[in-house]
Amino acid sequence: MEQYPTNLLPGFVDALLKHVPGLREHGCSYGEPGGLVLRMEEGTWLGHVAEHVAIELQNIAGADVARGKTRSVTNMPGVSMSCLNMRMRISACWRDASR
Ligand SMILES: [Zn+2]
Repeated sequence: MEQYPTNLLPGFVDALLKHVPGLREHGCSYGEPGGLVLRMEEGTWLGHVAEHVAIELQNIAGADVARGKTRSVTNMPGVSMSCLNMRMRISACWRDASR
């Protein structure tokens, strides 16, 4: 899907934001609300958008997820995606260090 960044998909950004309005608050690399919207208007991969949708759905479900990473896999079609709950990870590191 790398051939179809969001800026080449007419109506995509508006339709997505209509259905998942919480994405308007995602800062993405801009670090402030609206950053993801700017990234989508500039053109970003759909895998990156899927990462943010996954984060938003987890937040709606009550999980404290704030960050994710999206990477393509060399010589393999598709998307590799990870969403991390940073607070849980920090908490887990602290527990390990206290043993
Ligand atoms: Zn992002």
